[in-house]
Amino acid sequence: MGTKKNDPQNWRAATRLVRGGTERSHFDETSEALFMTSGYVYSSPEEAEQAFKGNKDRFVYSRYANPTIAMFEKRLALLEGAQYCNATASGMAAVFAALACMLKAGDRIVASRALFGSCHYIITELLPSYGIEGVLVDGTDLDQWGEALSQPANAVFIETPSNPTLEIIDIQAVSDLAHEAGARVVVDNVFATPVLQSPLKLGADIVTYSSTKHIDGQGRAMGGAILSNDEEFANEKLKPFLRNTGPSASPFNAWLQLKGLETLDLRVSKMSSNALYVAQFLEGLNGIQRVIYPGLASHPQFKLAARQMKSGSTLIAFEVPGGRDGAFRFLNGVDIIDISNNLGDSKSLITHPATTTHQRLGEEERARMGISDGLIRLSVGLEDPDDLRKTWKGQYSPFNEWGKDHFQ
Ligand SMILES: *Cc1c(COP(=O)(O)O)cnc(C)c1O
Repeated sequence: MGTKKNDPQNWRAATRLVRGGTERSHFDETSEALFMTSGYVYSSPEEAEQAFKGNKDRFVYSRYANPTIAMFEKRLALLEGAQYCNATASGMAAVFAALACMLKAGDRIVASRALFGSCHYIITELLPSYGIEGVLVDGTDLDQWGEALSQPANAVFIETPSNPTLEIIDIQAVSDLAHEAGARVVVDNVFATPVLQSPLKLGADIVTYSSTKHIDGQGRAMGGAILSNDEEFANEKLKPFLRNTGPSASPFNAWLQLKGLETLDLRVSKMSSNALYVAQFLEGLNGIQRVIYPGLASHPQFKLAARQMKSGSTLIAFEVPGGRDGAFRFLNGVDIIDISNNLGDSKSLITHPATTTHQRLGEEERARMGISDGLIRLSVGLEDPDDLRKTWKGQYSPFNEWGKDHFQ
């Protein structure tokens, strides 16, 4: 742990991603060490007593903190420009902890309707069962936010771009309305990643990640994180909640994702440019009913996306004719791309939200969220985009089987 010549705060993002948070052990290893340990030893009972009194800054138990997890948290915090970061076992553990640690019976949370299925469950079923009122609004409609936040609220939860319809929410405008109503703003930033969007700089208070997605980026390990610059939230609410309820990250998973951060910028930048290429190609195909990609000028919130994101993201949604059957034929016809509900992977993955991730919601709520039976979500990976394009044009193309009438 030699003294640093450089303060990481002065480093640019790429340097932070490779070197931020590194703490070498006395073995002077190059690559960050994996501390696969649940406990720590003390030289004397006196030392243990002092550690438990909080008088000695050291590791005591990996439910509280662990050196490998701490490196991951520091590196991610540096990237996000956040003072506080806590890693969790999964993205859902992060979302739930961020909300549960600050809400109590009688409180009110306002959220955008277009949500990841499990976030929807927490806000519309779980929190209400604890006596917390959950209100859903159309996230793209500032009038609806204004009306819902004309009454006091304690939390606002948004996902932008949303899953799977890629709606964009104005983080700054919603944060201003939320703060007037007395609410803290939590942004689920999974689709944008910390590389493309910085919610804390746009007025949000708390950011959550599923690091299972782009941060791991190679489909290996579950993980999540909660970041903020809000000392009261981080130290008085979140810290005791995490310590005592235990949704801790695994050191092994944190180590994989610490190393994942080193290539995050490269991967997300390339995956985004591949996604733009594929989205432009899909938009030019006859028969595709609608292509939704925040980096296309045809996206209803293209200008807002360009203002708050560095690119259109790595995800595309599009609609094919023929409802569920049409979508299934399409998925059965793709080559290279794997059918999987995961996303943010270096492998391109395709899924049918209405029968998988958003099946539980029921037809009516799906319709309200714009998830039609013909909607398909594509997470674009690191393959050569021309090979992905051939998926649609080559000999295995779904168009050959059924789409000659519909497609070019
Ligand atoms: C995947 C995902 C989550 C949940 O993350 P897990 O790591 O699967 O628990 C939450 N929000 C969004 C937007 C996601 O895509």
